Amino acid sequence: MRVGLTAALAIGALGVAGAVGYWAGQRDLGGNGPAIVSEVQAAASKAVSGAWSPTKPYPRHDVYYPGTEELAPNEMRVIACGSGMPTPRLKQAAGCFVVELGNGDKFIFDMGEGSYERLSALGIPLDQLDKVFLGHLHLDHAGGFPAFYFTGPVNNRLTPVRVWGPDGVKPEWGTKAWVRNMEKMWAWESATRGAVVDPRGLELEVNEFDWTAMNGLIYDENSVVVRTVPAIHGEQSVSFILEWNGLKFAFSSDTLPSAGWRDFAAGADLAIHECFLTPELMMSKLGMAPSEAIFVGTQGHTSAQAFGKIMTLTKPRLAVCYHFQNDFDTGPLVRADIRKTYDGPLELAQDFMVWNVTKEEIRTRMAVPNHEGFPAPPQRQKQPPDSMAILKFSETTIKSIEPESAAVTNAQIEAFNKRNGTNIKPGLTGIPFRNK
Ligand SMILES: [Zn+2]
Ligand SMILES: [Zn+2]
Repeated sequence: MRVGLTAALAIGALGVAGAVGYWAGQRDLGGNGPAIVSEVQAAASKAVSGAWSPTKPYPRHDVYYPGTEELAPNEMRVIACGSGMPTPRLKQAAGCFVVELGNGDKFIFDMGEGSYERLSALGIPLDQLDKVFLGHLHLDHAGGFPAFYFTGPVNNRLTPVRVWGPDGVKPEWGTKAWVRNMEKMWAWESATRGAVVDPRGLELEVNEFDWTAMNGLIYDENSVVVRTVPAIHGEQSVSFILEWNGLKFAFSSDTLPSAGWRDFAAGADLAIHECFLTPELMMSKLGMAPSEAIFVGTQGHTSAQAFGKIMTLTKPRLAVCYHFQNDFDTGPLVRADIRKTYDGPLELAQDFMVWNVTKEEIRTRMAVPNHEGFPAPPQRQKQPPDSMAILKFSETTIKSIEPESAAVTNAQIEAFNKRNGTNIKPGLTGIPFRNK
C-alpha cells in the first residue's frame, strides 16, 4: 500500500521522512547529513500536516507490516532475515536477505542458521520463495536451507525449489555434492513426511556455476539478471549482483574486499557487504586472543575500516554492513571505524530491516512481524496428496497401536466423513481392525 499523499508530494515526502527517521535512528548520511536533514524535516512536516485525522489510519507508517503493502511495478524490497553471525542469537540470525521485485519475482540470498524462521515471519507463501542463491556453503550462510527445503511441504510449498551455488574446488565440495549429501542425510525425514503431507514441494533443481567467473552470468529470466564475482573467503565463494529494471542490488556473502566487487558492484543502489566487529571488540566480547582477533577480523573477514574503503570505491546509493553483533555498544564503534574510510550513506543491518528501493528513493524501516503467524497459504489450488501408501509399517509399529484409542480416532474420521461428505479411510489406526 502506498501512503495517501498527493502525487505531487509523494516522492519528496517519502524520501525526506525516511531520511529524517534515519538521521534519528540508523541511517548515517555522511558528510551531507545535517543540511539534508533540516531541509527534509521541513518538507516532511509540511507533507504530514493536514493529513492527520482522529478516525483515519495514519497516512504513513514508519514500520513495515509484512503482507500489507503492494510493491509498485518499479520497486524492489529487500529484507534482512539474518544479519548476524554463526553464533546462535535471538536477536540476529545468520546471513540471509530476501529480495522481492515489482514484477513478482522473489530471491533468497544465503540462508544461514535461524533465517528460515525470520523468512517465514514475513508471510510470503513458500510457493513464491523457490529461488535460493548461496554465496558459499558455510553453515552461517547455508545452514537454514535443509529446514527450508524439507519442511516446505508442511508449510504449504507445493512447488520445487531452485538453488544456485558454486562448483567445488574439489567436486565433493561443490553445491551439487552438498545437495546430494543433504538428501542422503535427511532420507528418513523426506520419506516419513511423504506418508502424511503433500510431497510435491520436495523437488530440487540444482544450478552449479563456475565460482571463478568474473561477472559470470548465472541467472537471466523475466528481465532479472544475476551475476557473480569471485569472493575471497576460503575458496569457491562468490558475491552476487542482481540487476532489474535499472536497479542494482549487490550482496557480498562473505569476502574480503575484492577487485571483482569494486568493478562490478560499483554504483549499486543497495550494496550489502559483510563487516566484522573491530578486533578490540572481538577480544572484549568474544574472548579472543589478540592474535586471533586481528587475524580473523582482518584476514578472514572484512574489517570495518576495509568495509569503508571498499564502499568508497563502490559508491553505492546506500551501503549496508552486516555480519556482526549489532548492539547499542558495538554499533557506534563499528560505525566510527567505517567512518575513517567512508563518508557516504550508511546503515548497520539488523534482522527485519526493510529497504524499499526505487530510482527516486531508498526508504528503510523495520518490519514488525507477527509472532503468532501461521504459514501463508499456497498461491495455487491445493490438491489432496496421494501418498499414504508410501510407508510400509513394521510389526513393532502395528502392535504398538492402542486399540481403544484407535477406535476413537476411527469413529472421529467416520463422523468427519459424514460432516464433510468425504470418504477417508483410516490409515495406521485402521490396520489392527483390518487385520482381525
Ligand atoms: Zn563464511
Ligand atoms: Zn559468514
